[in-house]
This record gives sequence, structure tokens and C-alpha cells, in this order.
Amino acid sequence: MADAKYLCLQCGGTFPEGEYTACPGCGDHKGIPADLGDALDLHITRHELRVLVMWAEFWANAHKETSPKMLKTVYGIADRLNLQDPKHGALTFSQDLADVRESFGNANVQSTFDGTLPPPERPKDH
Ligand SMILES: [Zn+2]
Repeated sequence: MADAKYLCLQCGGTFPEGEYTACPGCGDHKGIPADLGDALDLHITRHELRVLVMWAEFWANAHKETSPKMLKTVYGIADRLNLQDPKHGALTFSQDLADVRESFGNANVQSTFDGTLPPPERPKDH
């Protein structure tokens, strides 16, 4: 969108400046949209970024019962970051596992975040 001013962290939709009570794309009315004019150019290593994203993923997964949209928000942010540098692979633990499963075909790849919780299933749209 040429005049995009805001980014919805739930659906990834963008919309122009204006007054909104909910995202025009998905109807989310609880999250605060990101201001696209407030974008940053930062220097960070891929490993540092993976650590931050994976910690956020673990946290969101641990609190998904009380904050069910948080995990989708984390995956949306990770996907947008990954699109900026797709050749270096996954930023999330769940995508790392999905990549291993894809690489090794029928291999039974299992893991847990904390020894009790299964890794989150990523929504199909992320
Ligand atoms: Zn939205």
C-alpha cells in the first residue's frame, strides 16, 4: 500500500493514516499497530536475532492460554524479519524443527520447549 502508515502486528496488514478503532484487515482491536515511519536500520548478528525471536517464541508459547494472540504476533514479526534476509534460514524454533523434518523426510523429529510442553504448531498462514 503506497500510503501505508501503520502495520497490524496480528495480520501483517498495512493501512493509511487515520483514526481506527480496529485493524481494517483483521478487526483486531487490542493490539497497537506499528508506525511504519518509525522503522529502524540496525546492525545485529543473525544469532542475536535468533536468540531474541526464540525467547519471544518460548514466552508466547508459555502464555498462550492467557494471551492466545501473542504467538501469532511473534510469528508475524519473525516472518517479516525473515523476508528481509530469507537465505539464512529460520528465526524461530518451530521453523527450525519444520526445516529439519523437511530435510530428513520421514524422520521422527520431536522436541519440547521446557520438557513438558510440545513445540507450538505454527499457523498455516505463517
Ligand atoms: Zn490486522
